[in-house]
Amino acid sequence: MADPLADFLSGDPQRIWQASWDIIGTRDKNVLEHLRPALPAIERATANIELGGMIFSNRDALVHALDKVQNYRAWKCWCDDYRRLLAFDPTREEERGHVRMLTQDRSGWPVTYECECTICGREFHVDEGEHHARWWQWTPR
Ligand SMILES: [Zn+2]
Repeated sequence: MADPLADFLSGDPQRIWQASWDIIGTRDKNVLEHLRPALPAIERATANIELGGMIFSNRDALVHALDKVQNYRAWKCWCDDYRRLLAFDPTREEERGHVRMLTQDRSGWPVTYECECTICGREFHVDEGEHHARWWQWTPR
């Protein structure tokens, strides 16, 4: 993530898409605070760009990323975001140290996981699904 602000303002759909997912994945408050005052400029710079997207709309990813920049201060914990987006893979979140995997059940359909946030201890039930791409529905327990 070199300079997400430059990416958002670049007019290049590929760079905007990458920056959106960088922001969705980050927990670096410096990065988010750096973008906050630039939100109106980012919204202007991206309003009329065709972002495309095959499965998840790339526009949705951008909207989600900008909403995070705007509102993350009101979140109780980073894990507040899990239930808002179907893109958080519990296995990857565990690799990043964000959750602890309590159980996973791969015997049936859907595949399910029980996870615990490593920061606040909130537990989640996660259903994994697949419709063109894999997705994960997180539900706080
Ligand atoms: Zn948490």
